[in-house]
Amino acid sequence: MFHPLPNSPQQFAITLSELLASRDARQTRQQTWLQSHQVTLISFTVVIPGPVKDNQWVRDIFNQGLCALKQVVSERQWVIIAQQSLALTSGPECLVAVDAPAKEVKQRMIEAEQQFAVGRLWDFDVFTAQGQLLSRQQLGVTERRCLVCDQPAKVCARQRTHSLSEILNQIEVLANASINH
Ligand SMILES: [Zn+2]
Repeated sequence: MFHPLPNSPQQFAITLSELLASRDARQTRQQTWLQSHQVTLISFTVVIPGPVKDNQWVRDIFNQGLCALKQVVSERQWVIIAQQSLALTSGPECLVAVDAPAKEVKQRMIEAEQQFAVGRLWDFDVFTAQGQLLSRQQLGVTERRCLVCDQPAKVCARQRTHSLSEILNQIEVLANASINH
């Protein structure tokens, strides 16, 4: 359960059409899992801007997210129905079918995201058994902050406040900080 990914990242730049195709494929996987397991679904990815979605620090960030997830699961004594981690050129992904109330799962995963500095790079999407994606807003949680300057992330993304290299540098700092601490 929750095996970390091996150290063999691909480091390929992916194209926009590959990125869009990977999103479609993820959506299809999510629907398949919801239909076959009929319980709350966690779909975990790492937030990585730019064309390279898989490298060593992305995998470190991902594996740390799996550790946090594992800790929450054991604390809350949730029953895991199925779990799968995928190493894709579009970035690592983990799907978890968990027999627990979706709102509680979303709440706990937001707390985990907020507990660790590197948690800003974790994206735990939570679906109800009926396939509804829960938002932070629905739970009354403030929106995500920018990695670089602490403004709402949406504002900086829309205004393109920061260069890609500035954002990637900050991500590397966050990844390394939590590994060494
Ligand atoms: Zn910013």
